[in-house]
Amino acid sequence: MKTNKFKNECKSLFKTATNLIYPPQCICCHNPPINSYYPICSSCLFSISPFSADLKELSTIKHPQLSKMGKAITLGEHKDVLRKVILAFKQRNNMAAGTFLSYILANIIPVDWHTADFITYVPSSNRSLKKRGFNPPQIIATTISQVCGIKLNLNILKKVKNTKKQALLSQVQRINNVRNAYKVNENLQNTKIIVIDDVLTTGATILSCCNALINKGGKIIGTAFFSYRPLFCTLPLS
Ligand SMILES: [Zn+2]
Repeated sequence: MKTNKFKNECKSLFKTATNLIYPPQCICCHNPPINSYYPICSSCLFSISPFSADLKELSTIKHPQLSKMGKAITLGEHKDVLRKVILAFKQRNNMAAGTFLSYILANIIPVDWHTADFITYVPSSNRSLKKRGFNPPQIIATTISQVCGIKLNLNILKKVKNTKKQALLSQVQRINNVRNAYKVNENLQNTKIIVIDDVLTTGATILSCCNALINKGGKIIGTAFFSYRPLFCTLPLS
């Protein structure tokens, strides 16, 4: 026990010394963060404005099936502070950044969504899972599950088709690329489901995932995303 206490004291001392030499900085603007638990400063935090809208309004593709997928919640447009924090999470493996945004998203999940039977997420391809080492939508869904007390269903959606990178394709090509790319093997009759992705680009991927769940009898009560890209957005995704 004494050894553990000594180790913890050493760790704490080391952290204090490191913070003195390299003071923590906001990952967006380098001002001091709100405190050591926050990766960003207060002015960057206040620039994030979450909102909800019908998924069919946020998606740039137009498809009749999107009206069956209810409301989508998001932390905002994929630009500025939000984009920087998302890229820190996805490209530099900054898990504190991902967890931070996931907590904000979890706290704006509408109360009536808490009756969902489970929450799930867009699965990664094996290729990107191997490259990144984690699936961002899974991290988000896990946090929301813990904060809201909604069961997490880890493996309901299976990716069964090798798809091309969506960013390189036109809107029509995107729909065709991910059509029937996801499969569900269980019967989901009378099951209420929330589906998570990190960035809503055209809506083609979430449409394909939700369709796979709906085809097995599931009901989508809502979807949630860190950010969305509006039509004619020219900022690169990464
Ligand atoms: Zn900042």
